[in-house]
Amino acid sequence: MIIMPRYSDIISRCVKNVHKCNTRSASFARVKELFSSLSLKKASATKKLPYDYICRVGDPVLRQKAMPIDLRTLENETFQQTLEHLHNVMKKGGTVGISAPQIGLPWQLFAIEITEKALKHFHPYYRMQNIETCPLTYFINPKLKVTNPEKIVLYEMCASIPEYSAEVPRVKEIQIEAYNRLGEPFCWRAKDWLARIAQHEFDHLQGRLFIDIMVPHTFKFIK
Ligand SMILES: [Zn+2]
Repeated sequence: MIIMPRYSDIISRCVKNVHKCNTRSASFARVKELFSSLSLKKASATKKLPYDYICRVGDPVLRQKAMPIDLRTLENETFQQTLEHLHNVMKKGGTVGISAPQIGLPWQLFAIEITEKALKHFHPYYRMQNIETCPLTYFINPKLKVTNPEKIVLYEMCASIPEYSAEVPRVKEIQIEAYNRLGEPFCWRAKDWLARIAQHEFDHLQGRLFIDIMVPHTFKFIK
C-alpha cells in the first residue's frame, strides 16, 4: 500500500530559509523529485526513452523544434528498432499518425498508416471527408511544400490532447520530400484528409499543436 505523505510535509522539506531577512524559497525541482521518490516509482519507471505511450500536452518535448536525423544513424539496428517501436505505440494508441516527439524523441520523424480496418472504425464525420488508405510510411527529415493553398476547416484531434477536438484550418494539398527508413529520398503527395494528417504530424516536429491554429470557440470536450 502506498501511503501518501501530507502535501504540507513535503513542501516544508523543500523550503529553506535564505538570507538573514528570513526570505524563503521553495525549490519546485525538489518538490518534483520528492514526489517521484515517494509515490510515483512505478510511473517514473516507464518514463525512460523512448516512451511506450503517447505523451500529453505539458511535456516540454511537444513544444520544441525537432532535430534533423543524421542519415548514418539509419544503419544502426537500434534506430530501426525505434521505428518499429514508434509504429507499435501508434497502433496501441489507435491513431493513424504519430511523431517522434510524442514518444519523447525530439527528432524529425513521423509515421502515417491508414488501414482498411482503421477506416471502418472511423467516426462517420471523418468517413465523409474523402479519406484514403495509406501504407505504413516513415517520413525522416521531411520538408513540406504547399501545392494547393485552399483552406479546408474540419474537426481534428490529437492523441497528445485526448478527448478534445476543434476545427482546424489546413491547406488542401501538399507535397513532402523526405527519406524513408533505408535513407532513400522520396517525394509524397497528398490531398484532403491525408494531407491534413501529414500537416498535423509535420507541425509536431515544429513544436506546434492543433490548439495553436484552431478556431478557438470550436474547442470542445468530446467524451
Ligand atoms: Zn497530434
